[in-house]
Amino acid sequence: MIMGPPGAGKGTQAERLVKELDITHISTGDMFRAAIKEGTEMGKKAKEYMDKGQLVPDEVVVGMVKDRLSQPDCEKGFLLDGFPRTAAQADALSKTLDDMGIKLDGVINIGVPRERLMARLTGRRVCKACGASYHVIFNSPKQEGVCDSCGGELYQRSDDNEETVSNRLDVYEAQTQPLIDYYSERGVLLEINGDQDINLVLKDVLAALKK
Ligand SMILES: [Zn+2]
Repeated sequence: MIMGPPGAGKGTQAERLVKELDITHISTGDMFRAAIKEGTEMGKKAKEYMDKGQLVPDEVVVGMVKDRLSQPDCEKGFLLDGFPRTAAQADALSKTLDDMGIKLDGVINIGVPRERLMARLTGRRVCKACGASYHVIFNSPKQEGVCDSCGGELYQRSDDNEETVSNRLDVYEAQTQPLIDYYSERGVLLEINGDQDINLVLKDVLAALKK
């Protein structure tokens, strides 16, 4: 399983990890969409709740995960991404995995200091004229505040301002702490330093999994 706050590079690591280990990437969002599209029993149940604007109950979500993990492409191993989100879901998942005779090898938690996440997440700048996207750290324009392709003025979207990003990180931390405690108590949490070159992050993840 892999977890990490917004801006920690979890998506990149997940993609590289499944390639490296030749396992199946199970992102909950994709799994949801597929189950609903294919009209599986659990997919239909989930859709009923969603159509009513209600939260999909844990038993339905865990049911979908179980269906997904039973498919042949998961026999070689899998990476769960985006699930569980609560300690209750984690508990339900543990029981399901036990029933299926599957052992969770590890829970990768990619950690990045808060101020670094803030810098990453508030750095996006968008061109007012053509919509081109830049980043003050990772993809800066040749001239500050000016679009390379059209010369338009760059601005920061309201979703990217300090307050919004800070709130988003607070919400993530509050939601995730019980999960971190849950897996830490069970001795499967692998704390990875995400504040380094992405190749080194992957190397650390692979080393932690081997232990
Ligand atoms: Zn532009």
